Amino acid sequence: MLKDKFGRVHDYLRISLTERCNLRCTYCMPADGIELRPKSHFMTQHEVFAIASEFVRHGVKKIRLTGGEPLVRKDAREIIEALAGLPVELAITTNGILVDEFIDTFKTAGINAINVSLDSLQKAKFNQITRRDYFDRIIANINLLLHSGFHVKLNAVLIKGVNDDELIDFIELTKHQKLHYRFIEFMPFNGNSWNWEKGLSYKEIMTQIGARYGSRIERLADAKNDTAKNFRISDYKGTFAVITSVTNPFCDSCNRIRLTADGKLKNCLFSGTETDLLSAFRRGEYIEQLILDSIWDKKAQRGGLNSFDQFSNALYHNQNRAMVAIGG
Ligand code: SAM
Ligand code: SF4
Repeated sequence: MLKDKFGRVHDYLRISLTERCNLRCTYCMPADGIELRPKSHFMTQHEVFAIASEFVRHGVKKIRLTGGEPLVRKDAREIIEALAGLPVELAITTNGILVDEFIDTFKTAGINAINVSLDSLQKAKFNQITRRDYFDRIIANINLLLHSGFHVKLNAVLIKGVNDDELIDFIELTKHQKLHYRFIEFMPFNGNSWNWEKGLSYKEIMTQIGARYGSRIERLADAKNDTAKNFRISDYKGTFAVITSVTNPFCDSCNRIRLTADGKLKNCLFSGTETDLLSAFRRGEYIEQLILDSIWDKKAQRGGLNSFDQFSNALYHNQNRAMVAIGG
């Protein structure tokens, strides 16, 4: 088992398939983009499978593919098909642009739940946030997923003066559709000009929702290791949740680890340090001990940023990567 010194067991691996993306979301991608590196710096399809298999041998039960945009990778289909052969629950987080080309692959791979980012229901605003023009295609693909029977979770990072005025519209989408909307507190990463004044806290989000729905808000049970606090408006078909990574972190029950597209193990989303599995793997070395040591050394909370002052200090989060290069 992948246990750390605090007794937390890690059985959920998020694999970034690429740092590339067909969107440029302002909260995720630095305005100048990120440094492009040669293909040889990144895991091949076979390396993804071999390294993922090592984690599965050590108790990983769930793998989520992410990025960057995982579906822009030319061999995304082959990677999904190969990973589907492992005894894990396979999931994916995508911006939705290419989803229509992958419906059959998801089905044969047994992927039932798909997370799609949707930060605005207004085309002009969505295109402004993502700095590209794919709104209609993404909406069509979300509908396709719903009609094809997938369990769809939509993600929105709430930012003041940008999309906080749409909170009630997002929730109204759950009235007739069986989807789950998740509101994510804006997190600091290298190059995303983070400033907590811009973010909406769990408290602010629930105050706005409370003012509108009052006693019709039902608190739902959270799943084990869930990072979200889950709710429903009574009689609505869908549900919603808040991911409180900033104001109310869930480090005590964290079971997540991340493998970046260039083969580095990050034992925490916020850790400034990484373990280079890919280079060791390419030298023909056993990567097992590297993995065990990295997990054991995981810090108690937020990669060792113990106070909110440290967490919000650019000096620290600029030692981390941009989110697009981590795999959220
Ligand atoms: N391209 C895919 C997508 O957009 O869903 C997968 C990768 S994206 C990095 C994964 C998730 O990270 C998205 O839901 C996105 O909203 C979230 N994310 C990116 N930057 C963030 C930030 N600064 N704070 C909070 N969430 C962020
Ligand atoms: Fe791309 Fe997803 Fe980041 Fe947006 S949030 S830039 S879609 S990786």
